[in-house]
Amino acid sequence: MQTSSEKANQSKELPRDRLASMDEQGHRVYIHPSDVQGPYKRWRKAFHTVLLVLFLVLPWIQIQGKPAILLDIGQRRFSIFGLAFWAHDTPLLLLVGLSVLFGISLITAIWGRIWCGWACPETVFVDYVYRQIERWIEGNAVQRRRLAASPWTTRKLLLKAAKWLVFTAVTLVISHSFIAYFVGIDALAVMIRHNPYDNPGTFGVMAFITAVLLFAFGWFREQFCIVMCPYGRLQSALLDEHSRIVAYDIARGEPRRGSQPVQVESALLQIERETAQTPAIQNQGDCIDCFRCVTACPTGMDIRRGLQLECINCMACMDACDEVMRNIKKPAGLIRYTSQNEMAGKAVNHTRPRVLLLSLALVGLMGGLATILTTRPPVKVTIFNAKTTPYQMLDNKTDPMLSNQFYLTASNYTFEHGEVRLALDDARFKIVSQVNPVQINAGKEDKQGFFITFPKSALQNGRTQIQVRLLTRADDGSWQRELTQEVPLVGPF
Ligand code: SF4
Ligand code: SF4
Repeated sequence: MQTSSEKANQSKELPRDRLASMDEQGHRVYIHPSDVQGPYKRWRKAFHTVLLVLFLVLPWIQIQGKPAILLDIGQRRFSIFGLAFWAHDTPLLLLVGLSVLFGISLITAIWGRIWCGWACPETVFVDYVYRQIERWIEGNAVQRRRLAASPWTTRKLLLKAAKWLVFTAVTLVISHSFIAYFVGIDALAVMIRHNPYDNPGTFGVMAFITAVLLFAFGWFREQFCIVMCPYGRLQSALLDEHSRIVAYDIARGEPRRGSQPVQVESALLQIERETAQTPAIQNQGDCIDCFRCVTACPTGMDIRRGLQLECINCMACMDACDEVMRNIKKPAGLIRYTSQNEMAGKAVNHTRPRVLLLSLALVGLMGGLATILTTRPPVKVTIFNAKTTPYQMLDNKTDPMLSNQFYLTASNYTFEHGEVRLALDDARFKIVSQVNPVQINAGKEDKQGFFITFPKSALQNGRTQIQVRLLTRADDGSWQRELTQEVPLVGPF
């Protein structure tokens, strides 16, 4: 005979054949996670505050006269923490991209999906901004669930309209801030002051981004993590039994109080049960089947069923369960941040091949990146011989004047226009060029032809080497370098 509490809990039990956020007809079930308090919530809130402040202020910060972050796709120039990149820096950008990829893989191999719950923009904005607004306007989780289930009334209509109005205003701030990363804060300020028809392209992009963000943060929410995010699907490949995950201690929790023992269905739960050091608690486990961890979960899942794709490691269930454990005077940690091996009482290998290889690859990539960035000159200049004619005789004197043709290529990696001046120290040699100094535009690679004239007597056996001095200078005078390049001169024997 079932007790009334068992019947109530059965009604809270999540379906086993579909997501908690979907009903039998496949319609969306909107999740209103319960509010939780605890150390993980406090840490997450502090971390999210830092991330949000960074997101909003980074476009305003200048480093060495350049925006801290600027991804100017139109002009194919990028500024990352004061370092200038151009489209022709693709190998460098590839190194940056690979470093991010290997970095995230390494973090996942060690700390699981910590990115999802703590740093992913979807989680940060939904949890910290949009759900907070919802809480202010529609009330706590219970009130919001009641409102959602209630029929449409004037009050419900007004509350929903107010919520979406505030959502739209906040999304406009976020989308403008987002656009500033691509056009720069000055250009954005000019666009805001002008009629949208003056910048229809940017205005259209901004309207589109606002609509997408409003949809993703205001309505789609956890569905993005569950059905769209490719990273979530990669977790089975990136995680192993040593990686940290949020997990329920089945050996300690089962059988749940006032209920039948759960059907152990996942491999993880099976391993835990078979190998746990803590002897299985035979009559009553510590879990009181209160469903607090389930109602607190922003993806609506039941962590007691083992590791699932929906889990974003937000740790809300840990705070929720620890609170319950405190109330029933049991030790915290029935749901904890641990690894499958640790939970099963096995050793955790922190130097396993996966971690070592990923660390090595990351160190190699970052070392390569740092070396290139610190040794890359702001302007790279190269002189090479024209292949067409080795030399020209300019007169028929006893010691005739000769000329050799050269090309100068200069790549300007800065955001300022600059110039290169060619100079020779030996008075017998002269530079003949239509332009000297040569202008080199920001982010461009320029090529300029020139001649060096000299008397035949300067040669020995028809050839010699001379040093050409190259003086490079930016418009703002912020840098000045002198390089030398040895060039060969040829003439008749
Ligand atoms: S919050 Fe803890 S005690 Fe309550 S159902 Fe979840 S695991 Fe069991
Ligand atoms: S199971 Fe726990 S850690 Fe995972 S998403 Fe739900 S609340 Fe967050």
